[in-house]
Amino acid sequence: MTDHQPQPEFTATERAVLEPFVTSVDARIFGLRNLPEVVKGALFSRYSRSEKSIRRILLDEFIHQPESGFHQLVATPTNASADQIVATKQAEAFYDRVLVGYGDDSVAELGGAHVACEDISNVAAKILEDARIGLSPLEKSTRYVSFTTKIDGAFRYVRESSIMASPHADAYIAAMDGLFEAYAALLAPTIGWVQSQSPRDANTSERAYTAATRAKAFDLLRGLLPMATRTNVGMYGNGRAFEYLITRAGSHDLTELQSIKTRLYDALSAMIPSFVKRAHSDRGAAMGAYLATIRVAGADAARAIPTKEYAQTPNVQLVAYQQDALQRVVTAILYPHADADYDTVAAHVATLDHAQCAALVAQASGERAVRFHKPGRAFEEAVYTFDIIADIGAYRDLQRHRMLTQERQPYGVELGYSVPPELIAAGLDGPFRAAIEQAITVTRRIRADLPTASQYAVPMACHMRWRFTLNLREAFHLCELRSSQQGHPAYRRVAQDIYRLLSAVHPTLTAAMHFVDMHDHPLERLAAEQRLDKKLASQK
Ligand SMILES: Cc1cc2nc3c(=O)[nH]c(=O)nc-3n(C[C@H](O)[C@H](O)[C@H](O)COP(=O)(O)OP(=O)(O)OC[C@H]3O[C@@H](n4cnc5c(N)ncnc54)[C@H](O)[C@@H]3O)c2cc1C
Repeated sequence: MTDHQPQPEFTATERAVLEPFVTSVDARIFGLRNLPEVVKGALFSRYSRSEKSIRRILLDEFIHQPESGFHQLVATPTNASADQIVATKQAEAFYDRVLVGYGDDSVAELGGAHVACEDISNVAAKILEDARIGLSPLEKSTRYVSFTTKIDGAFRYVRESSIMASPHADAYIAAMDGLFEAYAALLAPTIGWVQSQSPRDANTSERAYTAATRAKAFDLLRGLLPMATRTNVGMYGNGRAFEYLITRAGSHDLTELQSIKTRLYDALSAMIPSFVKRAHSDRGAAMGAYLATIRVAGADAARAIPTKEYAQTPNVQLVAYQQDALQRVVTAILYPHADADYDTVAAHVATLDHAQCAALVAQASGERAVRFHKPGRAFEEAVYTFDIIADIGAYRDLQRHRMLTQERQPYGVELGYSVPPELIAAGLDGPFRAAIEQAITVTRRIRADLPTASQYAVPMACHMRWRFTLNLREAFHLCELRSSQQGHPAYRRVAQDIYRLLSAVHPTLTAAMHFVDMHDHPLERLAAEQRLDKKLASQK
């Protein structure tokens, strides 16, 4: 990455044990190999709740844990690296013949890989997670993992190279350290306050209570984490998606992304070389240059727009929708069952009155027993655009939805920031505000010289703007999932606002959105932890 940080140390024995299973024991971006899919999936799922690297988890929780059944599942290859290289070279020759024969890029979707990206910044993680089709990321959570731990005496944030080479280096370090110090200092009192407000009742286990109250405290404090905060992202994806990801990473001018591009390519080349080699070809370079050029052209053109940067409260605006959405959806409901062209079906729908259309929408929505029962593709005909301002923490979560179009403006400090009302009620907002204000001052100074790099210094409490263009079918999924009780209040509010706005303009189309939770919940994770208790008890 952009700065040097010693890797977690493995003993010589540990290195020998790990080597067959990872493309590198040292690199921060590496692939998983010679492991059953279930083990790779389980390993990545641990990222969400663990501070450890995947290689450490693999050793501690799988290889050295007899009850994991690892040694029954995995026959340790004796000469794995050499065998794998020979095997992939043979496959590469075969694959090249197929690609030449059929010449279709989609052939590269037929092979996949698991890649771990560790200790990357949140700025970089979001760029990787902008990927939609063909990639499935899983990231370290800010809700279950403490960010107080130092590595070699340093808090876990990226010392971005252009900032470190600038006169702003000392101020950047002081502001970032200030954020992490405030986070560390506020954690215990925040947990104490949360517990004082929601005492444990007799029906709640100590485990569930501790987990739920810790998660709440982490949620309240995550605004202190800057975008430079290091995170771990595990990605499973197909070759085509990875090729595009490498190309896209290389089109960014941030040093960290350039480094990630090279390391991603190295890791994937050790596993699926044929699928990603075009990313490093002239074709890949031309594609990267094309992406960079259109981005720069867009930024140049946007300079003509007057800047509107002033502190704002989070809000969601519905800025575009179709007046004829109901007719479109009803036409699409009938179309697959008709023996007539689209215009004829639409002409028939034009003869129906509102009640008849509503009845067809209700019939197509069916009896939704649970939120997973989603109406069909006809509901994709209604499309909505939202302009959203919320804190970066909420954006980080909502950005993970892929079945829609969303794009953000740069992370900055001019739209104000949110202080959780609970911290104000607890009288703990003073140190929170002081650390954020210091980071804001430093970000402004860095931005004057290094606008792109200044995004690293922005705390997640700061507001940002982004747009969503989504269809009604995805809106069912997003509003119902993201308003559910266990969600973070900041994104629950966005999901609830989207639902409110949709149901105001299209009450008939949204009538079947039964599972949007419009209530507030003081201890969001408690019910989920209680359910987990029941599952754990049933496994005994
Ligand atoms: C309470 C909560 C906690 C979370 N915690 C974490 C966490 O700790 N770490 C973390 O990284 N993420 C976390 N997430 C994010 C989560 O993993 C998803 O990335 C996010 O919710 C987007 O959901 P989705 O994939 O269902 O939706 P979308 O991407 O919007 O997709 C919509 C639907 O399309 C289908 N679909 C989309 N892509 C695929 C695909 N590739 N394969 C198959 N079907 C697909 C699925 O049916 C999906 O539900 C959390 C989410 C919630 C709600």
